[in-house]
Amino acid sequence: MKLSPEGFMRPVRESTGEPSSDDPVRDFARVCPGRVVSSPRPAEADRHSQLGSYLESWAVWATDPDTRFRGASGGVLTALSLWLTQSGRAATVFGAGPDANPSRTVSVRITDRETAMAAAGSRYGPVAALASSGALDPRNAVITKPCEASALDRLLKERGEEERPLILSFFCAGVPSQHATDDLVRELGVPDGEELTGLRYRGSGWPGRFTATTASREVSTDYRTSWGDRLGPTVQWRCKICPDGVGESADLAACDYWETDENGYPLFEEGDGRSGLLVRTERGREVLHAAMEAGVLEGQRIAAPGIAAVQPGQTWRRENVWGRLVGARLAGRRVPRYLGFPLRRLALEDPRRTVRAIRGSRRRARASAVKGS
Ligand SMILES: Cc1cc2nc3c(=O)[nH]c(=O)nc-3n(C[C@H](O)[C@H](O)[C@H](O)COP(=O)(O)OP(=O)(O)OC[C@H]3O[C@@H](n4cnc5c(N)ncnc54)[C@H](O)[C@@H]3O)c2cc1C
Repeated sequence: MKLSPEGFMRPVRESTGEPSSDDPVRDFARVCPGRVVSSPRPAEADRHSQLGSYLESWAVWATDPDTRFRGASGGVLTALSLWLTQSGRAATVFGAGPDANPSRTVSVRITDRETAMAAAGSRYGPVAALASSGALDPRNAVITKPCEASALDRLLKERGEEERPLILSFFCAGVPSQHATDDLVRELGVPDGEELTGLRYRGSGWPGRFTATTASREVSTDYRTSWGDRLGPTVQWRCKICPDGVGESADLAACDYWETDENGYPLFEEGDGRSGLLVRTERGREVLHAAMEAGVLEGQRIAAPGIAAVQPGQTWRRENVWGRLVGARLAGRRVPRYLGFPLRRLALEDPRRTVRAIRGSRRRARASAVKGS
């Protein structure tokens, strides 16, 4: 996976020059979430039309105040990754963190407190978080976007593997272009050529500020401006037609458990972070309960619809995916196959909204075909 001129991760073909019986291109076509994504249906799970299958739903946070503060929301994924490695439940946890040039995001290995804390917080830039083959090893755990969680699960099933690494994921509104990060840093007053010493998208508070540092200055802006005005609008097309922003293929899927206004819209006031957490599998349930017994996490059980109620971006997108797919197809665009998601049923719940989605998507797909993108 390499950064494209548009600032997104794209697959590239590279030959090692060695003869091999593996066919990575065939594997890729079978598992790439740009081609196919399925919604798992574990036998004992409850099902929510917006959130997928789940065994339990929680509001949780790290008991260690420093971890809770540094994390994107409740510091839950950081606390879990640290505890998994310290308790020997995972040899390594693969996540994402800043590169040596901190405006870029790379796959990182979490093995101790230092590496867990360095990776805390969300990275709203393109990254291939499963780039290392260690991410396929069942002795490890991975933290990854829902689309990569789906790809990992499909790849291991395709290969007939019976075990998989523990998969931790998060709700995902999509991946912004790398150019949006670079432009925002510039807009905030760091001139081209001035070397960054740090860049975080959020965390160090909830939601925390987008902050870039150099040897001589620190610049920052709030979450509403960074995500809402600058990064979010550059999210790639594939993410706009994603039915699985909620991490259905994971064992545990975390999200912001926002406070909302009377219309259900998240309030981004700074506060003590809280994560919503969906337990997707028995393995995820065992891990969560063991982490709580070990005193790593605390929180309370909540009803799953309470999570959907504070995630209007996720619910809105899922309701519109079917219309957007139809519109894109009408404009001659190929679209991914989505298996087992209740997309048509959600679309038919509000036919007028769906007609608007079809028209808007057809118009945009035609316009981008004319531009050649
Ligand atoms: C691109 C993106 C879009 C998101 N959209 C939403 C959304 O719509 N709604 C919502 O509620 N939440 C969204 N989140 C998730 C949210 O920002 C938090 O990750 C989540 O609430 C868990 O917080 P935490 O405090 O438990 O995680 P933390 O304790 O901060 O741990 C985060 C962990 O995730 C890993 N990580 C960070 N960025 C990436 C990445 N890009 N790829 C792989 N691993 C990564 C890090 O290695 C770190 O260990 C998004 C996150 C990302 C990266």
